[in-house]
Amino acid sequence: PVITRFAPSPTGFLHIGGARTALFNWLYARHTGGKMLLRIEDTDRQRSTEEATAAILDGLKWLGLEWDGEPISQFARADRHRQVAEELVTKGEAYHCYATAEEIEAMREKARAEGRPPRYDGTWRDRDPREAPEGVRPVVRIKAPREGETVIHDRVQGEVRFPNKDLDDFIILRSDGSPTYMHAVVVDDHDMGVTHIIRGDDHLTNAARQALIYKAMGWEVPVMAHVPLIHGPDGSKLSKRHGALGVEAYRAMGYLPTALCNYLARLGWSHGDDEVMSIDQMVEWFELEDINKGAARFDFQKLEALNGIHMRQTDDDTLLGMFVSTLPHLEGGQGLLDRLDDKRKVQLRAALPGLKERAKTLVELADGAGFLFAERPLSPDEKAAALLDDEARATLAALAEDLSAVTDWAAETTEAAVRAFAERTDRKLGKVAQPLRAALTGRTTSPGIFDVLAVLGREEALARIGDQAK
Ligand code: GLU
Repeated sequence: PVITRFAPSPTGFLHIGGARTALFNWLYARHTGGKMLLRIEDTDRQRSTEEATAAILDGLKWLGLEWDGEPISQFARADRHRQVAEELVTKGEAYHCYATAEEIEAMREKARAEGRPPRYDGTWRDRDPREAPEGVRPVVRIKAPREGETVIHDRVQGEVRFPNKDLDDFIILRSDGSPTYMHAVVVDDHDMGVTHIIRGDDHLTNAARQALIYKAMGWEVPVMAHVPLIHGPDGSKLSKRHGALGVEAYRAMGYLPTALCNYLARLGWSHGDDEVMSIDQMVEWFELEDINKGAARFDFQKLEALNGIHMRQTDDDTLLGMFVSTLPHLEGGQGLLDRLDDKRKVQLRAALPGLKERAKTLVELADGAGFLFAERPLSPDEKAAALLDDEARATLAALAEDLSAVTDWAAETTEAAVRAFAERTDRKLGKVAQPLRAALTGRTTSPGIFDVLAVLGREEALARIGDQAK
């Protein structure tokens, strides 16, 4: 069975690139009926924090990318990493290196002077350990092959060749006994039974070094798929302004997790010309072969458009649930949530079909629903206030009489009353509907005005009209 893993370093939020990596691993695991494991790469004790781990788990859960089993702490496995390093020494595949910091610095200087990349020169590779100086705690270095090449058969990048002379005897265990990242990743992936490594192509050169450790241990190298990174709209490195944010920021901007997953999936993977996909469809269609080789460009407008489509495609009860659970994350949303009593919940549910036609994000949805939360008397915004001149207020007063005669309050009955009023008093419908909208919502734009009347209910609607009428 396929076992993938997502292996974030808990040094910050779950950023958008990491979220895409997690999504690809999750999709592939679900597609193949396998598992996605989660490993927290917390070996960097200075930079790893509990908060970051919590934020990453929270981000994954919000996106719906549930992992299998318990999250694994890389740091907790340090003993095992040490054990494998010592085993490699015993096998003659790695060795203790006693070079001092000064000696290493001298090698660097020399390489620099000769215009070569700085490399450890292999001094202790074949030297008798009995020559080890007193009081120097050794590091463990892998005995990398010096001839030939290491080939990575990558499912995205194809066959990638690394001349072995470029892969020096890198450190797998530091002098304090802590494993290096390079080593820990291999030991963990092996022990976790990982069959497929899907990650950003910034790890491609690591893959060659990691392959050396696999070989030295006689372990099978997992299938690799290195995915091109996400770039900005102009092709440069993704900047904050262009989307290099944590998924929490996307939640706060009012994107649906399903839409964000759809967008992220399409950023770097494609299934024919399909743009709009459900999670189930992505799971069904996801193949490593369809990951794009070129870097994808992040485009907020596309994300927003896609989000609007997902909102309209989501059934109203589900959308309402998503909206309510997202409210605490939206600016000013907690205030709305505090006022969301049972009556308003019913109103909101009734208004949703009209509201979602006009909103591309949950932020816009909250904005459109603002009239439901307004307290009487409303304070109309600037445009609405300008519209409510003396003539408009007189219109409202006259209209209020007609409307209060409507007993069977609904969009259809109020519409009939408003139309009849306009006709009888020789007013254009707009001349009636606009002040009515301003009075009911405090805005000049809203869902259809008869829907607004219906959603607010007779009592509240008549009261709001009365507030502005003269
Ligand atoms: N912890 C690494 C990162 O966050 C990922 C390592 C890997 O996937 O092998 O970039």
